[in-house]
Amino acid sequence: MVVIMKDGFTQDQLNAVVHEMETGGVKVMISEGSETTILGAEGNAANLDQDKLGVLPGVARVMVVTEPWKKANRKYHPDNTVVEVGTAKIGSNQIGIIAGPCSVESESQIVEIANAVRASGACALRGGAFKPRTSPYSFQGLAQDGIKLLLEAKQLTGMPIVTEIMSTDNIAMFEECVDIIQIGARNMQNFDLLKQVGRTKKPVLLKRGLSSTIEEWLMSAEYIMSEGNDQVILCERGIRTFETFTRNTLDLSAIPAIKSVSHLPVVVDPSHACGKAWMVERMSMAAIAAGADGLLIEVHNDPKNALCDGAQSITPAEFDTLMAKLRSMAQCVGRSI
Ligand code: PEP
Ligand code: MN
Repeated sequence: MVVIMKDGFTQDQLNAVVHEMETGGVKVMISEGSETTILGAEGNAANLDQDKLGVLPGVARVMVVTEPWKKANRKYHPDNTVVEVGTAKIGSNQIGIIAGPCSVESESQIVEIANAVRASGACALRGGAFKPRTSPYSFQGLAQDGIKLLLEAKQLTGMPIVTEIMSTDNIAMFEECVDIIQIGARNMQNFDLLKQVGRTKKPVLLKRGLSSTIEEWLMSAEYIMSEGNDQVILCERGIRTFETFTRNTLDLSAIPAIKSVSHLPVVVDPSHACGKAWMVERMSMAAIAAGADGLLIEVHNDPKNALCDGAQSITPAEFDTLMAKLRSMAQCVGRSI
């Protein structure tokens, strides 16, 4: 349930509404938006009396929220959430492009790619250190050494770093070293991991699970937010369908769908969605046209010899060309990069 306050309500009126809601057994989330102030009930709202709340002084109206996601719900928080990392403001009018290799492989590789994508205008460097591979015999990432190399690239370029966490054992290290903690598709419903990143103060990039509905994805965001971390970026990375031409099927309709029901920013990963480097440009353009707040793009300086996901990785030169096209597309939809 949410209580929407009238324009010009007084602090005493607000306190009285909060008191009434708390007496009904819920915690109250106050969202002071640009246009309205909203009090959201957190917890079991069954004992709240909608009619009684509706006639309290200063109250404009009371709305029952039937969706199970509350903190992630736009009814609780009408303004867009903006996640600030470095100079980027993901969720604002400015679109953020995150780029880098699937895996950190060596110092020269990550530094070369970091310099290149920064020069082209990427706002953050992404590289995997702990890799969730389908086969246990495939390259698993450089683990802690990969994090060290990312920090080195950060120091040299000033770019914030984004990397995937796979285990709750690494929470402290990630909280200390990483600027955006990525939760991969395979871990979208690893609820222990979600709760623990929810207790950190770092932004979380939450990828959509391989076969997850939008509601399940939002409920995973809710797990993070219910622990106190509201800096969640949702990442559409393609879902499993019957189609085998592409690695996954990019669900572009998820962007307007999420935007209508949630205030969280949405970024799109065209690389994992398509699995083909030559499709990345068109799907990136489409994502921006559809309202994405950012993109996550795999860029490798030697895709043919990449240790992971070479087929879907574009080169730094291709990324540079793409950025120019994305800037024009952003302008078409009234945004900037
Ligand atoms: C990745 O980002 O490299 C990755 C493994 O992605 P996903 O979790 O979307 O499969
Ligand atoms: Mn990858």
